[in-house]
Order: sequence, then C-alpha cells, then structure tokens
Amino acid sequence: MAYQIPLSFPVFEGNESLYVQEVMSSGHLATNGAFINKFETKLNRRLKTHQVIALNSGTSALHLALVLMGIGQGDEVICQSFTFCASANPVMYLGATPIFVDSETDTWNISPEILEDTILSRISLGKKPKAIIVVHLFGMPAKMKEIMEISEKYGIPVVEDAAEAVGSRVNGAFCGTHGKIGIYSFNGNKIITSGGGGALISKEGALIERGKYLASQAREDLPYYQHLEIGYNYRMNNLAAAVGVGQLEQLDVMVSKRRKINSNYKALLDGYPGIKFQEESENSESNYWLTAILIDERKTGFSNDKLRVLLLKNGIETRFLWKPLHMQPVFKRIPFYGGRVSENLFLQGLCLPSSSNLTQEQQEYIVKLIEEEYKKVS
Ligand SMILES: *Cc1c(COP(=O)(O)O)cnc(C)c1O
Repeated sequence: MAYQIPLSFPVFEGNESLYVQEVMSSGHLATNGAFINKFETKLNRRLKTHQVIALNSGTSALHLALVLMGIGQGDEVICQSFTFCASANPVMYLGATPIFVDSETDTWNISPEILEDTILSRISLGKKPKAIIVVHLFGMPAKMKEIMEISEKYGIPVVEDAAEAVGSRVNGAFCGTHGKIGIYSFNGNKIITSGGGGALISKEGALIERGKYLASQAREDLPYYQHLEIGYNYRMNNLAAAVGVGQLEQLDVMVSKRRKINSNYKALLDGYPGIKFQEESENSESNYWLTAILIDERKTGFSNDKLRVLLLKNGIETRFLWKPLHMQPVFKRIPFYGGRVSENLFLQGLCLPSSSNLTQEQQEYIVKLIEEEYKKVS
C-alpha cells in the first residue's frame, strides 16, 4: 500500500540519476566500476582516519567484520538485544552464540553496567566473549566512552553496528569509528541509500586489505582463478555505488533535515502527558534517522497500537520499535542478561514518519490526529 505519509522514504535530489546514467553508458554495472572506488574514497574523506570497503549490504558487512575478528564455531559474542535481527544473525552464520544484553532507558542502547556484569558472568563460566556488538538504534549513539572503557579493560573488541547511524556522532567522531570495526547500511529506507548496500570501516589497513580480498571470493592476484580460501561475493556493485555517491553528497543535508524533524516533533508534542522521546547522551549527536516516541498508556489513555491504527486509517505509516531479540522465538535458547527495559520500550514505542522531505504541514497533521486521540479519552 502506498502511504500518503510513509515512515521513511528515500529522497533523490542530487546527482543520483546523472551518475546512474554514467554507469549505464559505461557498461560497467558489476563490481569493477569506477563509482565503487569513488564511494569508498568519498566516505573515507568524511571519516578521515578510517578506510572503507563498499559492500552489498549491512548484514554482509557485519558478517565480514566477525570473520575478520576470527569469530567461529563455539565462540560467544555479546550483542545488544534491542535491535533488528541482522545485528545477531551473522553470529549464528558462524556457528557462534550471541549473548543478549538489555538496554538503558535514555539512549535505548546497550547498558554499559549490564554489559560489564555480563562479561564477568561469562568469564566466571569459563567463556570469555570474543566481541561486543553495539548498536546505535534509530541513529542514536550508544554510550561509546563507557563501552570502550569496558572493551579495553577486558580486552574484548567492539563492532559498531551503525547501520542506522550514518552521520551520527559521539564526541565529534562519527559512529562506526569508535570500535575496532564499524558497519553501515545503505538499504532502501535508511537515512541515505544505494538501493541495497553496506560498508565496513576500520583504521587498520591490513584488516581492510583482507576484507576486500575475502569479499571478492578470495581470488588470488593471478591471471587465472586461484583460490586458497573460501571467500564471499559481498562487494557493492557499480550501479548501487553510483546512487550511493549521489546520496553521500546529500548526507549532511539529510541529517540536518531529520534533526529538524525531530526537534519539531518535540516542540509540537510538548505538554502532552505520557509521551517521551529517545534522549541523546552528553556529547552525542543522533542523525535522527527515525523519531520514536514512548506512549505511557496510563497517562495518555491510548496505547501505541491504538495510535498506530488511527494513523494508518489516515494514510500515515508508523512502526513498532524493534522487538528485542531475546523475545524472538528463533532466539529462545539464547542467554539474556538484564531486566525489562528493552521489553518495555517495545511495548510502549512507536516510530513516527521521519522522511527527510516530511513537511511542517504533514507534521502538524500527524500531531493534530494524536491530539484528537487525547480528546476521545478525556
Ligand atoms: C538495516 C540494519 C542492518 C542490516 O542492514 P542491511 O543493509 O539491510 O543488510 C543491520 N543492523 C541494523 C540495526 C539495521 O537497522
């Protein structure tokens, strides 16, 4: 169904079509075209310290990251529970076990306290975790300072799943650049898109070299096809990279628009009881990919689902927050540490329309419908 107001719709107002035309007339649509290099160089210039591998999805970027960290059969990897399944699935691909950790109430991301408790508990069981997957959910930075201190204290490397947080920052440095490896997604509804796509970033040159090799079917540099290892077909294609370069040129504009949409929702919904927003921690800046709210039914008189259905009837797309992975049937045998924070976020939350081209009138219309819901129950 085509929504009058979609949740998060891509906006192509730059050179995307021009670059795609260029690729079409060059004939190089596959993984050997010029735009792949341009995409990597352009992203590298933004990140400064970090090199980039352009890949075909965020999921494959995360899988490759874990392979590069040597994760394998029987290993344990700590993973934020409050996230999309793609954060944990690559752990399963490798025959390793995710250990899910609950969130904190301000950023909604992994709780540093519970993270440390979990590490100590696993160590006491004789199973020191091999990596920590931190997610910057809906673009909101996790508490990277505290998390990196724990990472260093116990010598466990961090992978940042910044799939939703392209352009977000902590202490001035982009999300994805704080851990050993960072990953991005450029899937269709993320803040910028290449159709389907992802990237792996790291400041370790040798790791990037090996990542590129493994992502290109582990092909040796010889005139014939020679393979010493099993690789993956994970590189971004040139057509996607052309769209991606056009979108990267627009990233700063998209971030400032989505941040404005967020502050506008906060202003418009100010004073309505029982509605709360995800909060930036000190020195962090979200790209506000999606603006999400919590609805406390005892104070509003209506639930998140009631509001979802009402808005749907009016052509407005919203979405529940991610159902925590420890509550997913497919992960029911996986250990979980924490309480009910992420569960409550799931039960109360709703993502509001946040497309970069959402207008003031559309936001006022959405808030007017929310206001009517209040009037119905009062
Ligand atoms: C989108 C997303 C991914 C996966 O990215 P794809 O490009 O869709 O494979 C991973 N983690 C999170 C948190 C995501 O939102």
